[in-house]
Amino acid sequence: MATSDTTRYDAIVIGAGFSGLYALHRLRELGLRTIVLEKAENVGGTWLFNRYPGARCDIESIEYSYSFSEEIQQEWVWTETMPRQPEIEAYLNFVADRLDLRRDIRFHTEVTAMTFDDVAAEWVVRTDTADTVVAPFVVAAAGILSVPKEPDIAGVESFAGRSLHTSRWPKEDVDLTGRRVGVIGTGSTGVQLIPVVARQAGQLTVFQRSPAYTLPWEVRPFDDGELDELKANYSEIRAAQRAHAVGAARLSAFSVMLEMMTKPPLKSASREEQQRAVEEGGVIGALSWGDVFFDIEANQMAAKLYGEAVARIVEDPETAAALTPTHPFGCKRPIIDQGYYETFNRDNVTLVDLRKDPIVEVSPVGIRTERGEHELDVIIYATGFDAMTGAMTRIAVTGRDGMSLADYWTTEGPYAYLGIAVAGFPNLFIVQAPGSPAPASNFVTALEQHVEWIGDCIAHLRANGYRTIEALPDAQREWTEHTTALVEPTVLVHPTCNSWYNGGNVPGKKRMYMGYTAGIPEYRRRCEEIAAAGYTGFKLA
Ligand code: NAP
Repeated sequence: MATSDTTRYDAIVIGAGFSGLYALHRLRELGLRTIVLEKAENVGGTWLFNRYPGARCDIESIEYSYSFSEEIQQEWVWTETMPRQPEIEAYLNFVADRLDLRRDIRFHTEVTAMTFDDVAAEWVVRTDTADTVVAPFVVAAAGILSVPKEPDIAGVESFAGRSLHTSRWPKEDVDLTGRRVGVIGTGSTGVQLIPVVARQAGQLTVFQRSPAYTLPWEVRPFDDGELDELKANYSEIRAAQRAHAVGAARLSAFSVMLEMMTKPPLKSASREEQQRAVEEGGVIGALSWGDVFFDIEANQMAAKLYGEAVARIVEDPETAAALTPTHPFGCKRPIIDQGYYETFNRDNVTLVDLRKDPIVEVSPVGIRTERGEHELDVIIYATGFDAMTGAMTRIAVTGRDGMSLADYWTTEGPYAYLGIAVAGFPNLFIVQAPGSPAPASNFVTALEQHVEWIGDCIAHLRANGYRTIEALPDAQREWTEHTTALVEPTVLVHPTCNSWYNGGNVPGKKRMYMGYTAGIPEYRRRCEEIAAAGYTGFKLA
């Protein structure tokens, strides 16, 4: 294929979010002529699109940020312990400017198809702007939570009021004052959004299918001098973070769960001990037992205690009961909240329990459930994502012998070696593919490791005259068996658990837990061992 200099690169990066920005910087440092293709008008990825009211990270800002640049971590000023979306978006813009990344990012350019040319050993990448861009290596950094799951409800298009999706929230302010607002979805997003919307809306109706387990936690602005003190100790903070299983040694939704696992078992606790745990620790106390993650009976007992703790906050007993989950705690991503349950004591908030009163359809005037019509001015969909695989299956990725990545992941399963590469797709590195530690960890710690490993791998190939690297099917199968065995003894695989972790949130998606749960340090050790041994499990040619 004839291509000009402007379309031929050493590497193509898909996406200008957290992963893509670092990938560009790293590959540039290694001397590769690199282009980033980004569908949006700016950098930020998931943190650009998810700008709904209340959006914030549940990992501390000083850990949910790049560690690779001492200058950047010293210069950037976080204002709160856990950052809000606008601050993360501003941070990523700061990084893009500070590292002069924009000149190598093509905005408004969505990758639609890419095909591996076996003879030339390069990827031919096509975009919606009709450009064709060619490079030997592609680093796909298209996001693990970047494809919204469309609400599978009849009549969505018929609604005459305003429809909003949290992950496509408009840039301009949305004034909900005095409006009748309905929210569908009570995952991490809904739990953050609902208390904020309740304070604005005239009337808020929450349509809840699965109640959330959510743990209240204080988020606060930094005290005077506190951030400077933290920054003075940044090397220790980063070292602790790197050594921690979830890539965040300070407070996070994950660390709260890990702390729970260190507690004594619930099954041998007396009723008095159980009640004391609820009285003293509230919803967190109710779940803080060491056997809850491994023993479904203990988990079900904890769920009952959780219901008791919710009933202490929520005044209306029927609403409290409706807010009590029945799926196993721990099988979905942990959530921490600011004032979620208290929101249901407000006069302007109503809960509709879809387990008893399912949605029939969205109508022109609102949402019709089996028991009647709820008239609304605005419907907000917080219905989640086609996670982990969604972004790549929406691109027509064709590897060796015409193999389609979408077909493979859809019909066989979401398999990848090391959570980075897929057999049959040479020279394609997927940041945070299924089998990577991303789902159960601080995503930024996980992605830095990925990007650095990928950069070192490409440098190795170039230095040693290899044209291709490709995961071997046996290595991929063994990796999948390993990741699956790790979660076998836990509630993560319980059949009643439908979450984006296992694809159960998207009808028809192959079910498999898609993370790596032995922790980032162990994952890093394995990746380094594989690289040091000459990339075992890969074929280099
Ligand atoms: P989610 O956890 O998948 O939750 C989606 C919600 O929508 C669930 O309550 C689901 O109910 C409901 N839903 C979906 N389709 C529905 C339908 N047709 N009818 C009624 N309800 C429906 O998605 P998310 O809340 O966007 O969170 C996804 C992930 O993003 C999180 O797990 C987290 O990793 C990340 N996130 C992080 C933060 C943070 O840092 N604090 C904030 C937001 C998001 P079912 O459970 O019954 O399917």
